[in-house]
Amino acid sequence: MPPSLLQALRKQRYHFVGKHSAVKRCKWLYESIVHDRVCYKQKFYGIKSHQCIQMSPSLFYCTQQCLFCWRAQNGDLQIRWNEMRTPEWDSAEEVVEGSLRAQNRILSGYKGNTKASLQKLKEALAPRHVAISLTGEPTLYEKLGELLHSFHKRGFTTFLVSNGTIPTKLAELNEEPTQLYISVCAPDEKVFKHVCRPQVPNSWAKLNETLDFLSSFHCPTVMRMTLAKQLNMMKLDGYAKLVEKANPTYIEVKAYMHIGFSTLRLSYEKMPEYEEVNFFAKRLEECTGYRIIDEAPESRVVLLSKRKKPIRFSVR
Ligand code: SF4
Ligand code: SF4
Repeated sequence: MPPSLLQALRKQRYHFVGKHSAVKRCKWLYESIVHDRVCYKQKFYGIKSHQCIQMSPSLFYCTQQCLFCWRAQNGDLQIRWNEMRTPEWDSAEEVVEGSLRAQNRILSGYKGNTKASLQKLKEALAPRHVAISLTGEPTLYEKLGELLHSFHKRGFTTFLVSNGTIPTKLAELNEEPTQLYISVCAPDEKVFKHVCRPQVPNSWAKLNETLDFLSSFHCPTVMRMTLAKQLNMMKLDGYAKLVEKANPTYIEVKAYMHIGFSTLRLSYEKMPEYEEVNFFAKRLEECTGYRIIDEAPESRVVLLSKRKKPIRFSVR
């Protein structure tokens, strides 16, 4: 990878793990330990923010270049690399062990912080959840099933976020995550090509293929919609058709956040207010059988489901 890319990522506090993975401190880890405020996934699903590792096994690689993405993309800051030329992959054990060490390093920064809760810090040193969601497309990592297994056997819950453009990899997973997210950020192919900028042919058809078999997963599934103003907050009937096809356990509707490298591509004004996200979710209620069951205004997220309450995961 170009040294300028590694330098830019280090500046944004990515902790590299092996050749192609990374851990980054989520702001909610800090908020939970220092201010006793937790992320919306703790509120909805019970996983603990202070015991969560935010990581990616495919830091530099993705099949899309979404405009709203916070990751560094080929061409950002005039840095160029081939996002589809994948490396020789590290083993799942190497990625897990390296991620645990990186999280430990991150937490060592809290020692001496007088505002940090000592109890939470102690618990944080024994993480129990991993959000495989930091950047990049995780299904490009050949050993994803083994990675999930390696975390599970250590007692972790896993939330996996994929863009769904490699259905064969998802279909072949030899171990399911605790919860599976598929990003659906466009109501039709035209918007998809403009907003998600696929880098592989037939990506819209492939995403639809993933949605076709999503309900065959045993774990809870989530259709994740990241909304950006004037980009993808239209054509609700298109979204409704995709929801009907996938029949996910949940729909998470969330605002684009003007952070990371996305600031190079989108203006601040593209970030919807919570009220606009909520209005979108209410319109979605009208054209799907889903109902709003929870919300996190501070994160600009609304949760919809056919269930009355989300399934909560217990961690030690
Ligand atoms: S689940 Fe997501 S938002 Fe919550 S602490 Fe982990 S990485 Fe952060
Ligand atoms: S699919 Fe995810 S990682 Fe890839 S560009 Fe889009 S938001 Fe970023």
